[in-house]
Amino acid sequence: MLSGTTMMVSLRPFNGVSPYPSKHPLVHRNRQTALRGTIYMSAQTQAVPSRTQRIMESISVSGEVGGAGGAYSYNALKRLDGIWSSICSTQTVQQAPQQVVSSFPGVSSRSVLAEKQVDKCDVVVCGGTLGIFIATALIAKGLKVCIVERNILKGREQEWNISRKELMELVEAGILDEDDIEEVTAVSFNPNRCGFENKGEIWVEDILNLGVSPVKLIEIVKKRFVSFGGVIFEGCSVSSINIYDDAAILQLAEGNILSSRLIIDAMGNFSPVVKQIRGGRKPDGVCLVVGSCARGFKENSTSDVIYSSSSVKKVGNAEVQYFWEAFPAGSGPLDRTTYMFTYVNPQPTSPKLEELLEDYWDLMPKYQGVSMDSLEILRVIYGIFPTYRDSPLPAAFNRVLQFGDASGIQSPVSFGGFGSLTRHLGRLSNGQGNMYF
Ligand SMILES: Cc1cc2nc3c(=O)[nH]c(=O)nc-3n(C[C@H](O)[C@H](O)[C@H](O)COP(=O)(O)OP(=O)(O)OC[C@H]3O[C@@H](n4cnc5c(N)ncnc54)[C@H](O)[C@@H]3O)c2cc1C
Repeated sequence: MLSGTTMMVSLRPFNGVSPYPSKHPLVHRNRQTALRGTIYMSAQTQAVPSRTQRIMESISVSGEVGGAGGAYSYNALKRLDGIWSSICSTQTVQQAPQQVVSSFPGVSSRSVLAEKQVDKCDVVVCGGTLGIFIATALIAKGLKVCIVERNILKGREQEWNISRKELMELVEAGILDEDDIEEVTAVSFNPNRCGFENKGEIWVEDILNLGVSPVKLIEIVKKRFVSFGGVIFEGCSVSSINIYDDAAILQLAEGNILSSRLIIDAMGNFSPVVKQIRGGRKPDGVCLVVGSCARGFKENSTSDVIYSSSSVKKVGNAEVQYFWEAFPAGSGPLDRTTYMFTYVNPQPTSPKLEELLEDYWDLMPKYQGVSMDSLEILRVIYGIFPTYRDSPLPAAFNRVLQFGDASGIQSPVSFGGFGSLTRHLGRLSNGQGNMYF
């Protein structure tokens, strides 16, 4: 190993074999960025870094955001693996969760907080990634809505794959115009495969066949929310929520106090309110996902909605079955996202995300018919989706509802998803809006 040196790896010509049919694939991209021709890798002497560490530390990471799948650095991977390890510990109930929500009899004017500076709202949405969509749908109905977001409210660089029908739900809910749909759609492609190796495959049209830019989408919706008079407390964390007969009083870690008739918890799978409701209980199952967006795929016109190329396989002391997804990406004609995921019961022997990534670097080139040397890795992506049998999560407190990943309302296959949220948006915004009229 060389100390403190930089290796330059040139890209070699692509030499892969496509597993896809040649039936008139259609790809349409909205934008392209210039090709970067080299990968720079730092090599260190201290410990032997894993292949994952070397790859991840060779990519310059910028624009990490708060939502799921919005962090791309090696440090963030290690942090998430730390959280995952604690979920996998032997205890069924992990560390007792912090009490964020408390209920009090009587009206809110009795609260000591009521004497302090209070902003009054109809609805406070906690967590802005998907929260901005319900916040905008409700403000469009004439309600006074605020958002509290721990980070800057910004979408991730990595595209969300979704079907047009699901995206159109945002137009129907009055959140987007049809022109905005074109603006945020970075790429569209057909056909899309569902297959199991040696068991056959079917090709479908218009399923998860759009790559939407969360950066652009959230920017547009955020502007609309603010133009309707919405207030966003960015860089502010929910600290406590006190429920009274007439209102909920929410205190932010930064000191602000908000009074609201309804609190919408859109703080994702790791929402402190959800932790409290679930009593710190271990999830019944977890979907682990790793992947990358990489440049250098010459065969890049169709997608895999789901594909399994392997039977059960041993990783460390655990047995897993891998599934794949692959989508053309909007950043360039040779750019492709591939995800490898698996479903596990959380236990001490469960594989870490980094272990899965080590497998991914071996298996992805075989799956896609490319060589690693021909690829430039643009971004490494990873996430964990916990799930519970008792889902969707019923409301546990007056005046507090869960939304997005926090609600457990997602697809039982993906356990998460912007797409699955849009399918419920009309119903939820109508239901919540009608409570006030
Ligand atoms: C690798 C990966 C790939 C994915 N690909 C797709 C895809 O192709 N298509 C798709 O539809 N979905 C996809 N998803 C799922 C999608 O990203 C999630 O469903 C979506 O981000 C959920 O949004 P959310 O707002 O409910 O939760 P989160 O994304 O977890 O966001 C929670 C928000 O709450 C904020 N927050 C947390 N705690 C606090 C606090 N105490 N106070 C204030 N704010 C707080 C966070 O900063 C964050 O903004 C993917 C997920 C991953 C991990």
